[in-house]
Amino acid sequence: MSEGQQRHPAYLWWNGQQRAWEDATVHVTDLGWSTVGAVFEGIRGYWNPDTEQLHVFRLAEHLRRLAMSTKLVRLPLAYDEAALTGAITDLLTANESREDTYIRPLAYTGKTSGKRFAQIGSDAELLINTHPMPSHLGTGMTYTAKVSSWTRISDNVMPPRVKNLSNYRNGQLAGYEATLDGYDTAFLLNTRGQVAEAPGACVMMIRDGKLFTPDSGASILESITRDALMTMAREVLGMEVVERGIDRTELYMADEVFTCGTAAEVTPVVDIDKYPIGAGEIGPVTAELDRVFQDVLRGRESRYGQWRTTVDMPVLAPVS
Ligand code: PMP
Repeated sequence: MSEGQQRHPAYLWWNGQQRAWEDATVHVTDLGWSTVGAVFEGIRGYWNPDTEQLHVFRLAEHLRRLAMSTKLVRLPLAYDEAALTGAITDLLTANESREDTYIRPLAYTGKTSGKRFAQIGSDAELLINTHPMPSHLGTGMTYTAKVSSWTRISDNVMPPRVKNLSNYRNGQLAGYEATLDGYDTAFLLNTRGQVAEAPGACVMMIRDGKLFTPDSGASILESITRDALMTMAREVLGMEVVERGIDRTELYMADEVFTCGTAAEVTPVVDIDKYPIGAGEIGPVTAELDRVFQDVLRGRESRYGQWRTTVDMPVLAPVS
C-alpha cells in the first residue's frame, strides 16, 4: 500500500446489501449534484481489548439524527432504525473491526445526471462504510485556534442542525484559513456575533468551575457528544452546566476550552488568537472529562451502558 493510501475494509453496505469494497462503484457522471442534498452521520466504535468487544457509541441517537436529517432535506429513507442497526453491527462483524472504527452512513440522491434541482424524494440511496480511526483521548494532544473571519451558516440559510454535506464547505473554508494562518482549528461566530462551533465540532468552556456551551439556537449541530459530556459533567463531576450565548472574549478569558464531537472526542484548545487559555495547558476539568469519557466509551465504566451497542467479534483462529 503506498504512502497516504488508507487501508480499507473488505465490505461496505450499499442500498440494502453488504458488498465487497471493490464492487461498489457509480458512474462518474453521477458526481456533483448527488451530494449537494446528501446527509450523513459520523459514528464511532471503540475497541476494548480486554473483553474483545467493540462498543458503538450512541448508535440509536445517531440513527435518529440521520432520520431527522433525511426528513429535513426531503430525502425519504427506506430503512428504519432496526434495519440500520442490524446493517451496521453486521458490517462491523464482517469487517472484523477489532480496533477503533469510524462508521459513516451517507444518504444521497442517486442517478442525478442532468437533474440538478432533482424532484423531491427521488432515488434516495444509502451507503454505509467503515474505516479505522484511533482515539486521541488521553494522548495529551492539544490544539491552537483562531476566531475565523468566516461566519457560521444559519438556520434560514443552510440549517446547521442537520448533517447536510453541503454545510461542511463553511467549516472547510474556516479550517483552510486556520491552517494557512498556522493554527490547528477555528472557531466560527454565528450571525449573532457569538461563538457557534469549530469545523466538525462543538465548543465548551470552563469558567469559575462551571461548564458553558453555546445553546442549540446558536447555529450548532445538535451534537451527541456535547449532550454526553454535559450529562457526565453534571452527574459524574457534579458541575453546573449552562447552555447560553458565548462571546468571543469569554473564550479568551476562560479557564479551559475544548472542542467535542465524534471525531474531535475531547480536544483541549490551549491557545486562541495567541491568548493562552488558563495556564496554556490541558486543564483539570478537561482532563477529568477525557478520562471518564474514555471509560464510558470502552465499556470500562458501568454507568451509561445504554449509550453502548456492543458488537462481539468472532474469536480469531490462532496463527499456526
Ligand atoms: N458540529 C459539526 C458541524 C459536526 O460535524 C459535528 C460532528 N458530527 C459536531 C458538531 C459534533 O457532533 P457529534 O458529537 O454528534 O459528533
